[in-house]
Amino acid sequence: MPVESSIQHTLASSVSRNGIGLHSAKMVDITIHPAPENTGIVFRRVDITNVDTAIPAHCSNIADTMLNSRIMNNEGVTVGTVEHLMAAFFGLGIDNAIVDVNASELPAMDGSSAPYCQMINEAGIIAQGAPRRFLRVLKAVTVETDYGKAEISPSDELIIDIAIDFNDSAIGASKYFYIHRNNSFEEEISSARTFCLYQDVTKLRAAGYALGGSLENAIVVDDGTVLNEGGLRYSDEFVRHKTLDCLGDLYLGGIFVLGHITASQPSHALNNKLVKTLLADESAYEIIESKPEPVILNDTVREPVAALA
Ligand SMILES: [Zn+2]
Repeated sequence: MPVESSIQHTLASSVSRNGIGLHSAKMVDITIHPAPENTGIVFRRVDITNVDTAIPAHCSNIADTMLNSRIMNNEGVTVGTVEHLMAAFFGLGIDNAIVDVNASELPAMDGSSAPYCQMINEAGIIAQGAPRRFLRVLKAVTVETDYGKAEISPSDELIIDIAIDFNDSAIGASKYFYIHRNNSFEEEISSARTFCLYQDVTKLRAAGYALGGSLENAIVVDDGTVLNEGGLRYSDEFVRHKTLDCLGDLYLGGIFVLGHITASQPSHALNNKLVKTLLADESAYEIIESKPEPVILNDTVREPVAALA
């Protein structure tokens, strides 16, 4: 299976979709192509000509982390809201892919990573010959922003341990404990949608964000009530989505990470700061070519998932 494999994987064929950009409200076509070994994930803007539009998905190329993760190359070519697709690549164990888009932002799809997983599974996933590289954390790295705090510490597999606490009682306080293994991403978090507070929608739109947002691609919460028909997909969908975002932002490190992340009130800014701080400290990690055997955690070691407050 791709996630726990020690060799690189890509798509078996190309696959296309289209949809509306969450922030820009622009319609965008997206095609994900297979890519050779050691390519990594590279985005291209096919609507721009005469300059190099390739943007490697790497945190050294991050241009903006306000409500999405936007990357930019040396020519100033950008693509935004890459995190849900990056999460799907990490979640399904895709090392190499080229992503063509014809607008400045990826489609929002349904606000989760599930449609991207569907695309990748439809294309098929194939093993390549080259060994996969992993970044294994050797010592704890801690970062903070005005709102949140995150730490990554040594572990032989990726664990994401997230806590959120929102004033709105429909979200409230909840925690999620995620161990990244084969199928865990699709089974636990890929379907969790992004969310916002109804009271913030006007402010966001005045600032040029969420122009394409709707109940079709986000959970909207208003004073203790979920406005979406059909309600939530999971009672703790909000914190599961934060786990998804964390995974997507983590993959902007350009490599599969083995470490234990503990985060409270995470944001794209916090996640990106954690990845950049980790990569900047060469004594905090090593690059290895085969994954250690997973330690089997029994149920008493797994923290209980708190019910929604
Ligand atoms: Zn998100």
